[in-house]
Amino acid sequence: MSDGIMREIYDRVREAEFVLVGIGEDFAYDWSALTEDERYREIEEEAGRDQENVWIIPFLQKMILQGGRDDRWARAYHNLGHMIAGKDYFIISLCIDDYIYDAGLEEKRIVTPCGGFRKMQCDRNCSHILYDVPQESCEAIVRYYNKELPLAALREPICEKCKGKLRFNQLGVTRYAQEGYLERWKEYTKWLQKTVNKRLCVLELGVGMEYPTVVRFPFEKIVLYNQKACLYRVHSSLWQIGEEIADRGCAVRGDPVDFLNQFTEDKA
Ligand SMILES: [Zn+2]
Repeated sequence: MSDGIMREIYDRVREAEFVLVGIGEDFAYDWSALTEDERYREIEEEAGRDQENVWIIPFLQKMILQGGRDDRWARAYHNLGHMIAGKDYFIISLCIDDYIYDAGLEEKRIVTPCGGFRKMQCDRNCSHILYDVPQESCEAIVRYYNKELPLAALREPICEKCKGKLRFNQLGVTRYAQEGYLERWKEYTKWLQKTVNKRLCVLELGVGMEYPTVVRFPFEKIVLYNQKACLYRVHSSLWQIGEEIADRGCAVRGDPVDFLNQFTEDKA
């Protein structure tokens, strides 16, 4: 598709003093891929029949996502990690699939403002506390998945403060606990200040218009004001770049996951 552009990006990243990466919905794991797992389909049907049991599904998703992934997303993240290793980078990802945390990158340089599967919170965020995912719940889900435990034996984890539901710290809960990412976000804004008037390479991978004020619009502004910055935007449908930064921007039309994967295949 665009081997030349990929080489150019590699060069620009190498020359840059700072690298800013934004990852968005066009890069997110396709949850429908889970339905290739027969047992997952079975459970989705069994647990989905009763509202009381739907909490099992995200636990199951977490379990399957953690089970040694070797798919196109894992490869793409690995390639991204390879590309920016050793650079002074920061990554904002809007994806909740947690792949980014398995890419061999430094966790302190990653912020995921939409949350993920790494922490839990009270659905009502009654105490602004984030909880570790209860090990016993994960183990019970594994045993249920392996048909060693019946559905009726599973217990939904509850908030010890208010006895409400404990849910994964993700956008979409009744009251999202922003405590899960705000500290890191502060570090990100501090890091951004260092990039002013420096050679900054900005990569936007699959960031569309779902939360444009988090990545897309601010990134454009950063590139507009920093004359030494460049922007590479990869997206399958929203790849266009506005005129005001067109001279320092490069728009790539294509699936961002395939885009990252193609290069190493070519190189190999
Ligand atoms: Zn609570």
